[in-house]
Amino acid sequence: MSQQGYVAAPPYSQSQPGMGGYSAGFGPPNSSLQYGHYGDPNSSHAAPQPSMSKSTVPLGSSAPLGPLSPGTHQFSQNNFQSVPSASGQQPHRFQNPPPLNSTGPSYPPCSHQSQPASPDAASTSCTTQLANQLNSMQINSYGPGAVQSSRMSSGHPASFQGPQPLPLAQHQMALLPGPQIPPPANNFSGLCAQSTLPSMARQDGIPGSGLPNPNLQQLPGQTPGPGCHPQQANYGPQMAGSQLSYPGAFPGGPAQLSGPPQKKLDPDSIPSPIQVIENDKASRGGQIYATNMRGQVPPLVTTDCLIQDQGHASPRYIRCTTYCFPSSSDMAKQAHIPLAAVIQPFAIVPQNETPLYVVNHGETGPIRCNRCKAYMCPFMQFIEGGRRYQCGFCNCINDVPPFFFQHLDHIGRRVDHYERPELSLGSYEYVATLDYCRDNKPPNPPAYIFMIDVSYRNTNSGLVKLICNELKTLLDKLPREEQEESSAVRVGFVTYNKVLHFFNVKSNLAQPQMMVVSDVGEVFVPLLDGFLVNFQESRSVVNNLLDQIPEMFADTNESETIFAPVIQAGMEALKAAECAGKLFIFHSSLPTAEAPGKLRNRDDKKLLNTDKEKTLFQPQVNSYESLARDCVANACCVNLFLFPNQYVDIASVGLVTMYTGGTLYKYNNFQLSSDSPQFLTDLRRDIEKKTGFDAIMRVRTSTGFRATDFFGAIYMNNTTDVEMAAVDCDKAVTVEFKHDDKLNEDSGALIQCAVLYTSVSGQRRLRIHNIGLNCSTQLADVYKTCETDALINFFAKSAFKAILSQPLKAVREILVSQTAHMLACYRKNCASPSAVSQLILPDAMKVLPVYMNCLLKSCVLTGRPEIPTDERAYHRQLVMSMGVADTQLFFYPQLLPIHNLDLKSNAVPAAVRCSEERLSEGGAFILANGLSMFLWLGVSTPPELIQGLFNVPSFAHISTEATLLPDLTNPYSKKIKSIMEQIQNQKPYTMKLMIVKQREQPEMLFRQFLVEDKSIHGGASYVDFLCCVHREICQLLN
Ligand SMILES: [Zn+2]
Repeated sequence: MSQQGYVAAPPYSQSQPGMGGYSAGFGPPNSSLQYGHYGDPNSSHAAPQPSMSKSTVPLGSSAPLGPLSPGTHQFSQNNFQSVPSASGQQPHRFQNPPPLNSTGPSYPPCSHQSQPASPDAASTSCTTQLANQLNSMQINSYGPGAVQSSRMSSGHPASFQGPQPLPLAQHQMALLPGPQIPPPANNFSGLCAQSTLPSMARQDGIPGSGLPNPNLQQLPGQTPGPGCHPQQANYGPQMAGSQLSYPGAFPGGPAQLSGPPQKKLDPDSIPSPIQVIENDKASRGGQIYATNMRGQVPPLVTTDCLIQDQGHASPRYIRCTTYCFPSSSDMAKQAHIPLAAVIQPFAIVPQNETPLYVVNHGETGPIRCNRCKAYMCPFMQFIEGGRRYQCGFCNCINDVPPFFFQHLDHIGRRVDHYERPELSLGSYEYVATLDYCRDNKPPNPPAYIFMIDVSYRNTNSGLVKLICNELKTLLDKLPREEQEESSAVRVGFVTYNKVLHFFNVKSNLAQPQMMVVSDVGEVFVPLLDGFLVNFQESRSVVNNLLDQIPEMFADTNESETIFAPVIQAGMEALKAAECAGKLFIFHSSLPTAEAPGKLRNRDDKKLLNTDKEKTLFQPQVNSYESLARDCVANACCVNLFLFPNQYVDIASVGLVTMYTGGTLYKYNNFQLSSDSPQFLTDLRRDIEKKTGFDAIMRVRTSTGFRATDFFGAIYMNNTTDVEMAAVDCDKAVTVEFKHDDKLNEDSGALIQCAVLYTSVSGQRRLRIHNIGLNCSTQLADVYKTCETDALINFFAKSAFKAILSQPLKAVREILVSQTAHMLACYRKNCASPSAVSQLILPDAMKVLPVYMNCLLKSCVLTGRPEIPTDERAYHRQLVMSMGVADTQLFFYPQLLPIHNLDLKSNAVPAAVRCSEERLSEGGAFILANGLSMFLWLGVSTPPELIQGLFNVPSFAHISTEATLLPDLTNPYSKKIKSIMEQIQNQKPYTMKLMIVKQREQPEMLFRQFLVEDKSIHGGASYVDFLCCVHREICQLLN
């Protein structure tokens, strides 16, 4: 009875715990853990990255073929060590910040004398190094013959159709060089006559780029510098003096806005992220995307479409940096394109897409390959009349279990192919048997423990009362399986300052009982019975407690807090109850009380731009790392809500959250009146989130390549098993692959991700995602199927991991260098012959430079005294677990004009490029990056819009204090509120709205998000960075 596999009803409807059978490949999750004691002085401090393996084999060195070109690829420690640090030269970028207290116009116009910024990230040492690599790469053998064989012809889109229709035929993106490239005589006029330019204009739809541009023509005469010399001694200064004016800087006010300054590179002539996004929306938006072919490139993350699983995992679950792997490691080294998959195993799918089916083979358990333990999936090939199958991953021939036998049809396919999810779908779930459970026992449902800091500041600010009041309603919304009436999740409550208070809220008590644990050096759980309860059963006692807590501590003077013992206590409570769970910790200050994990304020701006800057991202004391390890071992996920007024050392206190798959929320200078909505929405969403508990992820691959590195809110105890105390719908793990043999073009590159987890009702399950990629001996095939958004996700995570062990300068240089290498390789091997001075970008990567520049400019990678260290550590931690859609928005914010809306349409208006040039005095714009949202209002915003939004008569009357728009019933207000809701929808963090008026002080903050412009924190403008990359490419090609 339990052997029917296909459940046509809504998922999770046929779940039955299995009763033993197949051996579990995951093994007991904790069998090999050797946990250090809490506070173990032997714990490693040096490499606290979350996915750092404790194994003696460094992940980065595990690929038998060795790292790709040393110093340019991958942020594995080995490679980073090999990067020569800059020759003692103090980095001179990011100096001379513009005065921060200036109001109004923030950028000094054309401030070339300062902030050469990341264009010179690849400074002399780096360029020399690149030249060396160039030699080893033999890139100089540039010749039309080789090019012809692999080039992609922009004139023949059909040749790119391949197995699936690519909406935009790949073509060359041509660009005039930056001013530092000394063009050969007549270069510019010659270039403009080339066919690539008009063709780009036609196919990209980038206006103006196809025509000779008077602005461009002026460039060559500007800086007759030495250009692409092998030794660019004056690289930096030259960059600074490039005389590129910044159309976006409007210090002069309207006059400068009205007309483009002279001698500028026309921004419309360089690849536009918005154009790429809108083109993809136009060609693929609103359509059905069926995953029925190997190596298909999905629509962009920014494109809405309906996804149908027809044998490969939906791009909501897995996105790859390229959908065609190079067939050999030599090719991979040559291209420098990271081979990676970004896996979001619990991603939310929209209502109109099919949720995952659950396969239940009863006591037999999932069917797996005998050799590699891969799970039954569409990549298994049935043979011998259906009696055996060949594993697509390891080629082993397996017997089909008798109960699973089925005849094959005339094309060799099982006749029940479409009736079994595990044969026909990319993603599905299996009910796991007891072999997959801890101690071979079915798991208990998870528990949520709420732990509230009741020190003076939190009680005094009203935060404690706010939390307690909210919990009374929130606890009715604990997650449950769809078919269940109430949640199986149990709840517990702890408050703390210098000591811990546990509460007994057993249902038969008239009053809650408090137990104080003052020995915080060795925390124990003072009660087992009555601590974790079912809210429905204990409702009155719990509500009673939540009413009492704010009063209980109302008169407290205690200002010191503990922190690590709080986590320890929560973890011990879950351990004692033998269940997985989440801690919700509401904390405000640096834990300075005498206890394990005590911290001091070690923030030090003097470390910025030194080799010791990395220590700011490392935990201050070792004990947090061993605590995190204990938490993972006990399936204790730590969610941290921080309300800091000053430095709280996020690198230390956030570490456990990061390792355990938890989420970190931060509300600076929390004000009850203005910040409550943001906090409460976050809390509500987190409690209701779809989550897998006590999870282990394993990524299997077909022969020839394998997973070598993992990035995310994860913990690695060995080199293959990704452990997550919990994994929720927003968390993504980025997996890097390396070759260990040649890949076969016929069989492709297959990936199976299996996540073993405990569901919210306490059922042990396996979630399987399968995806097949193509392989090719042609580099052009690799470039044509790249996904820039996934590449940026990979680069961000690998760089943010690398900064724990490497100087930031080296990390930035490697990012620049790798960008240049990827593009130079394309140029050399795939593009049609043309002057070296011409910049040619692969179609699928044409916005890689702008995104890469955004990453380089992120506050994590650019230390500035004005940016709080905690803010940088916070951003770093957030990005490490982001999926592709979240990193795309985070690094390139959405800027939406709202002053000329079609009030009848429901659609969100098309975005414009993130540059001041796109703003106007008469305009109003929404900007959002997933963490912050701004409403920017030009000084001449139409009065009817102001009236509609704020119910005030004029610009001068608008108050910028509000964090929400008033509730008004006019069409403007409704429309713009609806746009804001759509932007916020499905984002992991609630964005607090900031209202910014043009030429008022807070505009400074807003302008940091105009990422195409030169940044006040020293980052290069897009134009400057493109020129810098172009120079690097020229060097590589010469
Ligand atoms: Zn196998």
